[in-house]
Amino acid sequence: VTTTQQWQRMDAQHHFHPFSNNADIRAEGSRIIERAEGCHLWDSDGKQYLDAFAGLWCVNLGYGRQELVQAASQQMQQLPYYNLFFKTTTTPVIELAHEIADIAPSHMNQVFFTGSGSEANDTVFRMVRRYWDIQNQPERKIIIGRKNGYHGSTVAGASLGGMPGMHKQGDLPIAGVEHVDQPYWYGEGGDLTPHEFGVRAARSLEEKIKALGSHKVAAFIAEPIQGAGGVIIPPDSYWPEIQRIVKKYGILLVVDEVICGFGRTGEWFGSQYYHLQPDLMPIAKGLSSGYLPIGGVVMADHFAETLAKGGDFNHGYTYSGHPVCAAVALENVRILKRERIVERVKDDIGPKFQQAIATLADHPLVGEVRGVGLLGAIELVKDRTTRLRYPDEGSTGTLCRDMALQDGLVLRATGDTMMMSPPLVINDQHLDELITKTKSALDKTWHRLKGK
Ligand code: PLP
Repeated sequence: VTTTQQWQRMDAQHHFHPFSNNADIRAEGSRIIERAEGCHLWDSDGKQYLDAFAGLWCVNLGYGRQELVQAASQQMQQLPYYNLFFKTTTTPVIELAHEIADIAPSHMNQVFFTGSGSEANDTVFRMVRRYWDIQNQPERKIIIGRKNGYHGSTVAGASLGGMPGMHKQGDLPIAGVEHVDQPYWYGEGGDLTPHEFGVRAARSLEEKIKALGSHKVAAFIAEPIQGAGGVIIPPDSYWPEIQRIVKKYGILLVVDEVICGFGRTGEWFGSQYYHLQPDLMPIAKGLSSGYLPIGGVVMADHFAETLAKGGDFNHGYTYSGHPVCAAVALENVRILKRERIVERVKDDIGPKFQQAIATLADHPLVGEVRGVGLLGAIELVKDRTTRLRYPDEGSTGTLCRDMALQDGLVLRATGDTMMMSPPLVINDQHLDELITKTKSALDKTWHRLKGK
């Protein structure tokens, strides 16, 4: 048998980790996850964790669904690979596109498949410019994203996103991408009411469009709820104002559904939760519950028609709609439907989850608790009245995350905001475990910080 230490040594020697400090890994070793079932994970020492993060916001059905294993195995045997280039398709892709059109907003009926969310957003980048070329408005090139948004790690995805830590690496964003304010009321709202702040954040888009010249702006891209940025729930006034602005200036609206899609908010898509009219929706993650990599771009009818009129679309990936991934995604969507899991998030477990995390708001370390559906965020502060953070901002979140891990709970921290995004199949018992362990992590963090 290989021991944890031996695994860690091999890992540090030969595996360079994404989104990690690899020097720390060389010094301290990494966590090794060996197996999972339902909402729980086990590491190489046999320690059990409740996964309140569904992997990376993606294991919507939870771990160990045998139907997905069988769908993959059956498709592997029948047709393990074929591509979609040059007017070819495969049956799992046909069925999957059909299912997605069924659950998407009614004006969206075509899907372009990719291998991931980042590829979906690279596809968006090229599709949007292609669309305006075909419309004889090639000067419309600029895509506007938001500060602190996340749209993936490829060059276009990281550019469209607004993460300073990512822009610093690789000299991003690339030309033709601009950013406007995020609707982060708790962090940036000052004395404004949420309503006032929501309108103001949305109007930063209008100001940017005017400054750039609306004839040069191609699209606005945003997540319905910013995920990686800190589960930032926009005030109610935000999205209606954005919808008004994009309509007024004739700009395409791209709603990145990579996290919110497939039930996370209690609707199939965040666009339905906020009553949006997107022209494009990048999707991934929950599409296959993360069991295999697959993503896509769902297109509004008018957009797909225009793109089709333009003739050859010179874009695609070897693994666009990989048949095995498509077969697994198809079964995943069918299970979500059959077991009425999205409805359950809306009417039952989502409200219970929100009630349960709301009880954490009394904790002295907690400044705000917010959430929608099965998304949640907890702001950690030193002073609840002034919203002042502890010194060395960001380290409180990391400390709390590590305390939770000690207790057998996986949470994610961004800065001093703790984030939750459990599998959609989380039950009452898991919820109790989640709250007990989160409270314990908050207590331990608070005791460590006392006096600082
Ligand atoms: N868009 C959003 C909103 C995301 O949260 C992510 C990943 O976290 C992506 C895009 C990128 O997806 P992927 O990691 O599959 O490339």
